[in-house]
Amino acid sequence: MSALPPTPPTTAAAPRLQITDLVKRYGARAALDHLTFDLQPGCFAALLGPNGAGKSTLFQVLTGLFAADAGEVRVDGHSLRGSAVAALRHIGVVFQAMSLDLDLSVSRNLRFHADLHGLPRALAQQRIAEGCAAAGLGQDLDRLVRELSGGNRRKVELVRALLHRPGLVLMDEPTVGLDPKSRRDLREAIHQDVRQRGSSVLWATHLVEEAEAADRVLVLHQGRLLADGTPAAVAAALGGGTLEEAFIRATAR
Ligand code: ADP
Repeated sequence: MSALPPTPPTTAAAPRLQITDLVKRYGARAALDHLTFDLQPGCFAALLGPNGAGKSTLFQVLTGLFAADAGEVRVDGHSLRGSAVAALRHIGVVFQAMSLDLDLSVSRNLRFHADLHGLPRALAQQRIAEGCAAAGLGQDLDRLVRELSGGNRRKVELVRALLHRPGLVLMDEPTVGLDPKSRRDLREAIHQDVRQRGSSVLWATHLVEEAEAADRVLVLHQGRLLADGTPAAVAAALGGGTLEEAFIRATAR
């Protein structure tokens, strides 16, 4: 596989993510129904929605798997339609399903991704070593991914998602199947990246508890945003009570 060209500089003033009037239909049904929102740098946003809300569809559009029927997506100022390669270069993704090669070592998996992004070998080695050390995987670089726990595999996927220092990090229900400590570790690691680099995270979840830890909650239901704000503001906007009570009430309709 040929290496991608180096990452161009980010447009400083641009939102990390800018979604305008986005529509994606399956037949007559709109899975994304004129969705519009921005994510500014340094924001950890939870995309909270029940099953069928449109979270996976949105991620499939954002990662270039499907084209939207209408609307616009910009990542760090780059249009997904007009400059897809530049836009995608500014995105890091942790997919819902594990996507590492089980029969390669941790470092080989990470080097493959670094090569894909055209990172110089020395820089890649440095980032792999630092990322794995910060994730508590410093002793695991030469181990096969198959030998790692589910929680540690997820950490490797997060290190991988951040290797090319993307402005926007997409996490698609990343804690499914993880134990409580691994879930918390993952959340803290991503919060740290947001604080240190000013990245923005869009964390899809149907778990209210995870949304409560976010700076901002976007409630998605039937392809539309029902509410957008801090966890407390969203709970109030959806009729009051706890965020969980408000979310269940609003999405039961
Ligand atoms: P979520 O990830 O929030 O559970 P999805 O994006 O998977 O939601 O689904 C949004 C809507 O689109 C649902 O009504 C779902 O049934 C529909 N949908 C998703 N994928 C397809 C598909 N490939 N074909 C037809 N309908 C689909």
